[in-house]
Amino acid sequence: MTGDGDDGDLHDILGRALAALSAAATPAEVDAVRARYLGRGDGELTLLRRRIGSIADPDARRQLGISVNEAWRRLEDDVVARRAALERQRRVAAEADEALDLTWPPPPLRRGHLHPVTRMSREIRRVFTQLGYLVVSGPEVEYDRYNFTLVNMPPGHPARDTQDTFYIDAARLLRTQTSPVQVRAMLALGVPLRVIVPGKVFRRDNDPTHSPVFHQVEGLLVDEGVTVGDLKGTLEYLARSIFGPERAIRLRPHHFPYTEPSLEVDVSCMVCGGDGCRTCRHSGWIEVLGSGMVHPRVLSNAGVDPGRYTGFAFGFGIERAAQLAYGIDDVRLLYENDVRLVRQG
Ligand SMILES: [Zn+2]
Repeated sequence: MTGDGDDGDLHDILGRALAALSAAATPAEVDAVRARYLGRGDGELTLLRRRIGSIADPDARRQLGISVNEAWRRLEDDVVARRAALERQRRVAAEADEALDLTWPPPPLRRGHLHPVTRMSREIRRVFTQLGYLVVSGPEVEYDRYNFTLVNMPPGHPARDTQDTFYIDAARLLRTQTSPVQVRAMLALGVPLRVIVPGKVFRRDNDPTHSPVFHQVEGLLVDEGVTVGDLKGTLEYLARSIFGPERAIRLRPHHFPYTEPSLEVDVSCMVCGGDGCRTCRHSGWIEVLGSGMVHPRVLSNAGVDPGRYTGFAFGFGIERAAQLAYGIDDVRLLYENDVRLVRQG
């Protein structure tokens, strides 16, 4: 065996070892490369190093010894470096897989909105409390007497026929209107008085334009010298506060048992501004409220002297007001629990 042959072997071994090392994809593969070339018993470079002592020529022996030692160190260094690099890669991958990244932004919070009926109800309260009205409530399970008789609809009164009522027994029912609270408020608080009564009312209706439960608000003002002019001013203020400052109102004679005179109130159309459109059936006006001067019999039923006091009352549906103010076409949307309605804001 000549020195040149051993040099060629060394060159070949080192080349293969370095190539295998850079192809190693895991620390275990690096360890296998190390064992194959530098292994204590039969590593290829180990075997070559053992042969150095048998070279006869001292110069060639020394030269090969130096070359093999350099190759050995080079290979050792590369094994350590390659192993460290692969360990680092594995650690980074594991962290990406398993660790919580606390700097990652959270999904955006979805902001809730008030239901249109709640929003309108609050708006109405705000408008009237600014005018000095008290917000009062009454029972939803009501006596027939308060719901009908005391608001001037005694048994047999024709207006009772128009009310589809949920009766509980002969004396009690689910209130069909908030008007009974007029009488309750006058009895409880006395006069002069100004109250609004927002609340649920119940009718035996269930079709595309009627829900068996809906919300009404009732307003009542009783004092000395109250006139239709006061009523008109209050309703104008209400219409402009809720439907916009451009709104006008129009009063039309009507009939309700508990007011005399009774007036239906139209508001100029909030969609077309009065020019005529589908919403207002091309009339420019939309019927929104019922109102009138409190019937003297209702006052005396509530213990108020109709010779000294007069008052006005008005009432309207909160769903309808919300539909008109917020442009909601179908009243059923308000009860179908589709959260898209409130997400719109
Ligand atoms: Zn219109």
